Amino acid sequence: MITCPVCLETKNHVVLTRDRVPVLQNVIVKTEEEALSFPVARLKICRCEACDFVWNADFDPDAIDYNASYNNSVQGSAVYRAHQAAMAGRILSRPGTFNCVDIGCGEAEFLQELTASGRIGKAIGFDPAFKGLHPIDERISVRTVYFDEETARDLPDDIHVVCSRHVIEHIPAPRPFIEAIAAYVKSRNLPLFLETPDVEWIFRNNAFEDFFYEHCSLFSPRSMAVLLAAYGLECRVEPVYGGQYMWIEAWPARAAAGDTPPAPSDAVSHAGIAEALSYWETKLADLRREGPVAIWGGASKGVTFSLLVDGVDAAIDLNPAKQGCFMPVSATPIVSPEAALERGVRSIVVMNPNYLGEIRTRLKEMNWQGTLLTLQADAA
Ligand SMILES: [Zn+2]
Repeated sequence: MITCPVCLETKNHVVLTRDRVPVLQNVIVKTEEEALSFPVARLKICRCEACDFVWNADFDPDAIDYNASYNNSVQGSAVYRAHQAAMAGRILSRPGTFNCVDIGCGEAEFLQELTASGRIGKAIGFDPAFKGLHPIDERISVRTVYFDEETARDLPDDIHVVCSRHVIEHIPAPRPFIEAIAAYVKSRNLPLFLETPDVEWIFRNNAFEDFFYEHCSLFSPRSMAVLLAAYGLECRVEPVYGGQYMWIEAWPARAAAGDTPPAPSDAVSHAGIAEALSYWETKLADLRREGPVAIWGGASKGVTFSLLVDGVDAAIDLNPAKQGCFMPVSATPIVSPEAALERGVRSIVVMNPNYLGEIRTRLKEMNWQGTLLTLQADAA
């Protein structure tokens, strides 16, 4: 019997299992040998029938080490930067100058975006994996610890906003994570902003490439509301980033509700996920008759796609730190767009439909002639 880590109910089913997936996607792997011998683990993706939460029941936190070779920078894309600026705009819609806390701030890119407005007095980040790779604004300070009741204690009294973007999907035990944050925001009556992938988008689009080891906790708007309500927070959830992510604004609930029993969800078939995978296996075999095939996107989706679908000759990525490196386990080489053209790539499959326009422009500038496709063409 498996218990849902969000609502604690025991009615759930297995969506998919995969053996030998890389424990990390966004890593710099310098050699083919290192890629082939990269640490692997098992996915057992379960879905709660009470609250809709989706999680990897076989997740082992000790298998993951967000160490020096972790690099999930997507700052090379103008589309992503525009998204980040739009999310900062949502926080900055409050009037005046204010101070903020970012839990799991990475290299403080989002705090930089916020302080660039000139409206942030103090910006404090929490992230044990912070390395200080880029110079940051003097108003920003980063604490290389996890946020918890203990580490929150010496925060200044005049914090006005708390945010946490793309963190909770990496947390295997979301209840204690939200419990600590909720205790803090409730004690000071602060708004909380969260951003995380929307698992309903993944299911709607049969996005088999969006299930991977790092994302051990995947939320729907409903499971997020159930989790926040368990700790006395109300929320409003909005789809952003073409529906792939959700933006959550939460605040202390007026009446203490405690755990609300979630309504049962409708039975869902997951057959489409396997069908989508088999479609791309056939498609890639066809495309390869014309010449080498590349995917565009050497991050999470690309790593999973090239692991599951045979015949990816190279992965194009704009992150210069990844170019010349290899994808974990599949050992697919990661190259620049120019290097892909030199390899005679005839077909390119875009991993994230949000980048299709940007990629099409880039390829046009390079005078590339070939077949350009995208996963989830309907979502682009
Ligand atoms: Zn549940």
